[in-house]
Amino acid sequence: MTLTDPCVHCGFCLPSCASYRVLATEMDSPRGRIHALKALAAGELELDATLASHFDSCLGCYACVTACPSGVRYDQLIETLRPQLRAPGLRSPWQTQLRQWLLALLPYPQRLRALLTPLRPYAGSGLQRLARRSGLTRLFGPELAAMEQLLPALTAEAFGPDPQGLIPASGPRRARVGLVLGCVQRLFDPAVNAAAIRVLSANGIEVLIPAAQGCCGAVSHHQGEEAQTRQLAEALIKSFEAASAEPLDAVLVAASGCGHTLKAYGRLTGKSFSAPVADIQEFLNQLGLSDSFRAGLKPLRHSDGSLASAERPLAMVFHDACHMLHGQGIGHQPRQLLAAIPHIQLREAVEAGVCCGSAGIYNLVQPQEAAELGRIKAADLSTSGAELVVSANIGCSLQIREHLGLRGQPLAVLHPMQLLDWSFRGLASSPARPEPH
Ligand code: SF4
Ligand code: SF4
Repeated sequence: MTLTDPCVHCGFCLPSCASYRVLATEMDSPRGRIHALKALAAGELELDATLASHFDSCLGCYACVTACPSGVRYDQLIETLRPQLRAPGLRSPWQTQLRQWLLALLPYPQRLRALLTPLRPYAGSGLQRLARRSGLTRLFGPELAAMEQLLPALTAEAFGPDPQGLIPASGPRRARVGLVLGCVQRLFDPAVNAAAIRVLSANGIEVLIPAAQGCCGAVSHHQGEEAQTRQLAEALIKSFEAASAEPLDAVLVAASGCGHTLKAYGRLTGKSFSAPVADIQEFLNQLGLSDSFRAGLKPLRHSDGSLASAERPLAMVFHDACHMLHGQGIGHQPRQLLAAIPHIQLREAVEAGVCCGSAGIYNLVQPQEAAELGRIKAADLSTSGAELVVSANIGCSLQIREHLGLRGQPLAVLHPMQLLDWSFRGLASSPARPEPH
C-alpha cells in the first residue's frame, strides 16, 4: 500500500486548504496534488516546471491532514516530493537563486545579523513607513518588497549576545530543560525568548541554553534540503550534548515552526536529542503552572492603560500556527495557560485552522498568494473585536503584524509567554499598539 492509496478523492480537505483558497484550481488543492502524485508514480505524468509550480504553491500547512477522514498523510507525501523540486529547470533561475540566498542566510543568525546591521536605523523608522507608503519598495520586485514588508523594528537585544548558560529555577527545582532559541525569533523578536526563560524559571524550571547553538533546520526541511537539514540537526544535537552535564527532562522551543522539525529529527536524520522535544506550551501545561506562579498572576492592562477587570476583561484572539495545530496537534495547551491570567477573554478566529500565509519562507518566495492569505487572516482576526492577537510562532507573528498594519488595524501580536510574563511581573505597560504600515 502506498501513501496515496487511502485518498478516495472525496474533497473534504479542499475547504481547509490555503493554496486552494487563493488559487481555486484543483491542481493547487491536496486532492489534485495527490492525483498528480499517483500519475507520477504510474509514469503517466512527468515532473515538469508546470507541475512543479503546483507543488510549490502548497504551503505545507497540513490543514488537509487534519481535515482528511481517510487518514491520508499528505505531510509525508509532500515531504518526499520536495527534494525533487530542486532539479534543474523546474524553477525559474530567479526562484532558484532566491531560495539559495535564503537558505544561505536564514539558518545562520550571525550572517543574518551582519546583513541586518546596516538596516537598523531604517527598520521601524519613519523612513520605512514613508518608503512603503510611496510605493518605492515595490520597485524591487514582489519578493524583495515582501521581505521589506516583513522587516520589523530591530531592537538592540537582537544584536547583543544571545541568552546562554544555565538559568536557575526560582524556588525548588521541578524540572530541567534545554531551550532552542530559533534563528528568526532570536533576531526579529528576542523578547519572546527572554519572556520564556523568565516564565520557565519562575515556574521552578532550570533552563540550559547552549552558547554555540545554531539553527534547527526547519527552513531547510520545509524546502526539501535534506543534506542541510541533517547537518544543522546534527550540529544542534551536539551543542546540547556538549553543554548538558546532567540529563534534561525535555528540549523546548517557543517557535512552533521549529518545534515541528525538531520533533521529526529521528525520522529525518536518524539522530535525536537524549531528551524528548516539546513545545514550551505543551510542556508547561503538562507540568502545570506552579502554585506560586499562578498566585502571582495579575490582570493585564488594556491599550488605554486601564487594568482589565471582571466587568471589562482584556479580549485577545488566539491564532493557531499550522505547525502547532496541524503539525503537532497542540491547541488547548496555550489556551489553558492563558486562562490562568485574571480577567482575560479568549476569543476564537472564525477560520482558526487556515494558514496565515507565512509558512516558513513561503511569504518570500510566493508573495502574491501569501499576501492574499495574510489579508484574509488579518480580516478574520480583527473582526473578533479583540484588543490583541496571541501567536506562538514567529513567522505567523511577523505576517499577521504586517497585514494588520496594512489594514490600518495595528493590533499588538504577542506570544503566550510574553503575556504570562507580563502578568506575573505586574508590568504597568499595556500591550502597545504598533505604528500602522
Ligand atoms: S486527501 Fe483525504 S479529504 Fe482530501 S480528497 Fe483525499 S481522502 Fe478526501
Ligand atoms: S499542506 Fe496546506 S496548502 Fe498544502 S495541500 Fe495541504 S492544506 Fe493545502
